[in-house]
Amino acid sequence: MPEFQTSPGMRDILPPESARWRRFVEVFAQVCESAGYGQVIPPLLEDLGVFQRIGDATDVVSKEMYDFEDKGGRHVALRPELTASVCRAFVQHKPVVPWKVWYAGSMFRYEKPQRGRYRQFDQVGIEVLGADDPYLDVEVIALGWEFYKALGLQQVNLLVNSLGEPDDRARYVAALTAHFEAHLDALSPESRVTLQKNPLRVLDSKREQDAPLVAAAPHIADFYSPESAAHFDGVQAGLRALGISFTIDAKLVRGLDYYRRTTFEYQGGTLDSAQNALGGGGRYDGLVESLGGQPTPGVGFALGLDRTLLACEDEGVFGAPPQAVDVFVVDTTGGLEALRLTAELRAAGIRADRAYENRSMKSQMKVADRSGAAVALIVGTNELEEGTVVVRPLRQHDTDRGAQTAVARTDLIPHLRNLL
Ligand code: AMP
Repeated sequence: MPEFQTSPGMRDILPPESARWRRFVEVFAQVCESAGYGQVIPPLLEDLGVFQRIGDATDVVSKEMYDFEDKGGRHVALRPELTASVCRAFVQHKPVVPWKVWYAGSMFRYEKPQRGRYRQFDQVGIEVLGADDPYLDVEVIALGWEFYKALGLQQVNLLVNSLGEPDDRARYVAALTAHFEAHLDALSPESRVTLQKNPLRVLDSKREQDAPLVAAAPHIADFYSPESAAHFDGVQAGLRALGISFTIDAKLVRGLDYYRRTTFEYQGGTLDSAQNALGGGGRYDGLVESLGGQPTPGVGFALGLDRTLLACEDEGVFGAPPQAVDVFVVDTTGGLEALRLTAELRAAGIRADRAYENRSMKSQMKVADRSGAAVALIVGTNELEEGTVVVRPLRQHDTDRGAQTAVARTDLIPHLRNLL
């Protein structure tokens, strides 16, 4: 074993997988920019306080944060998510509303690593600040939906819920607490702890022991104010108008404390239920205010890149894009010609690679075959003298493009453009 390896829950993303990651972000950018969203790039590190405003009852904040004191004595943390940073940026820069932004990047959470769960992981997401319209919630949900479609995923289920306004939520939490406290003995020890910290999260319990009590719990819909109910009705009507199928899941509370009214989650139909959340989001109308801004409504989502790619593998879609070069230069005259030729080809927009260390023709041809290039360009002493290059098709299906031919250096680029 080498002395140094990546830390637990952290990975190197190597080619060609890294090309798949990049394309993932490119597809996401296209979907977002088609709807008027611009990219925001906040720093990886913020004052710890920014993330504490997410809420202390959230595991992400209370247990999983990578926080430390910097050399100036400032208590900082690596971002565990980006919504709080985006709201901090909004308060700091006061952009015109509605502020519609998208982002992509790495997040850090000190979690127990497992398949689909890492300590450094990537998310893409969008946030819209400054508009309260239920059809905006629908636009946001629909963009996530469009993105999954653009990747080629078909087995994605959309769950939606509303947690009501803070007052509704507070009355609901009181009723929920009373319900669970009346049956405390029947509750699992873990859920009893959760109940003390965040009663809503007891609804998330996947323990069998808790199932009957969770099933019998009061229903959030019975606590909606007329305004909350109207907002949620609008969201549902909008989703139906776009033909997006969804399931209402009254127990969908999601892990982050800041959600109000709409919450939603996209689940991968092919993944294990413990790890099947591809992404999710909701409204967080109080977050900007808690970061020192004017009361500002907000809605957004974050989608996990890793789990979405696992779902793509399961469905056999969105594989790594081909990365082969177009041509491979084999130079048996010492390598200077390969240096010149590859530079010329690359400048003309033809992807070109070459062999190094002045190896034998046979050994260079082996590398050329492995490279995946469509043709080898061979330069020997004769060709160098005559000012020609031998163009030899490499792939089986390219042989019908003709056997190898000698082409004048001056005609080479137009010849290749024709051929490739
Ligand atoms: P959240 O920010 O907790 O709402 O998570 C949004 C999405 O990010 C999840 O649905 C996952 O796909 C992904 N995600 C969250 N935590 C992790 C993690 N530790 N490792 C990999 N993906 C994660």
